[in-house]
Amino acid sequence: SQDRIFNFAAGPATLPESVLKKAESELYIWRDSGMSVMEMSHRGKDFVSIIEKAESDLRLLLNISSDYHVLFLQGGATTQFAAIPLNLCKPNDSVDFVVTGSWGDKAFKEATKYCKPNVIWSGKSEKYTKIPSFEALEQDPNAKYLHICGNETIHGVEFKNYPVPLNKDGILIADMSSHFCSKPVDVSKFGLIYAGAQKNVGPSGVTIVIIRKDLVGNAQEITPVMLDYKIHADNKSLYNTPPCYGIYMCGLVFEDLLNQGGLEQMSVEKSVRSLMNVPFTLEKSELEAEFIKEASKEKMVQLKGHRSVGGMRASIYNAMPLAGVEKLVAFMKDFQSRHG
Ligand code: PMP
Repeated sequence: SQDRIFNFAAGPATLPESVLKKAESELYIWRDSGMSVMEMSHRGKDFVSIIEKAESDLRLLLNISSDYHVLFLQGGATTQFAAIPLNLCKPNDSVDFVVTGSWGDKAFKEATKYCKPNVIWSGKSEKYTKIPSFEALEQDPNAKYLHICGNETIHGVEFKNYPVPLNKDGILIADMSSHFCSKPVDVSKFGLIYAGAQKNVGPSGVTIVIIRKDLVGNAQEITPVMLDYKIHADNKSLYNTPPCYGIYMCGLVFEDLLNQGGLEQMSVEKSVRSLMNVPFTLEKSELEAEFIKEASKEKMVQLKGHRSVGGMRASIYNAMPLAGVEKLVAFMKDFQSRHG
């Protein structure tokens, strides 16, 4: 609609208009339930049908086999930084981290509390601008798993293919928060994939974990119940009160993606979809504030880069219309010609 602006935020982020409209139409009363999804018991048949459909639609979208659990959790991807080592490692187990940006670094730092992680490659000295060559990685054969961040949201560095884990259990784990459901992914190559919903698939408050079933059930004794994958798997993500409305919204997004033909369609427009987060700078950095101010007047907001790197950043998740990208590109050209 005319009143909606192009929101390039990295998350919470823009959602498909069709999904927002559908949610609006069902906000007050969901189908024949006589109440809003926000008011339903999470154990009632209506909400159970909502969460089951969200799960089965996500399974269809990503072609997830029955060897994997799909969990709808809380606490953001940040909570998974602790939950993963707590569930998969004993305190003395080693783990390999490839660190291609600050999120991978945060995941590594949190893991040091619960296991013995090693950074086997870091892009830090090159300001996180690279993905290493996989052959050169010195993986520890005794590591419990190899951890990567599939798309570094702040630095805009995305793995286009994935390293083969050489640890004895062959486990690769990826934080896919900021490119989840942006394109097809071969889930069978991973032991665990996790993502906060608030970029590509819904509002904040929902964290999705896709985990191979054989990896569940060996959590350290100190693991809080809320972080124990077995508890959530055994209870179909309904151990305690889940983020019901957020899960409902994710379900609407999954349905919308399927209606558009699935994730193959999402990766078609390569020029605009190849990077979820596009950091950029101006030749004259002193003009950045002016750039952001003018863009905002043109109804393009949230273009300021992450505070740790400065500059600008356009996050282009699935729901950003092509028109938004075209408008930004035109604005950038115009700005350049006026200030160049
Ligand atoms: N990992 C990545 C790649 C992210 O982009 C973010 C959030 N920007 C996080 C982890 C942290 O996620 P949350 O805020 O959901 O804990």
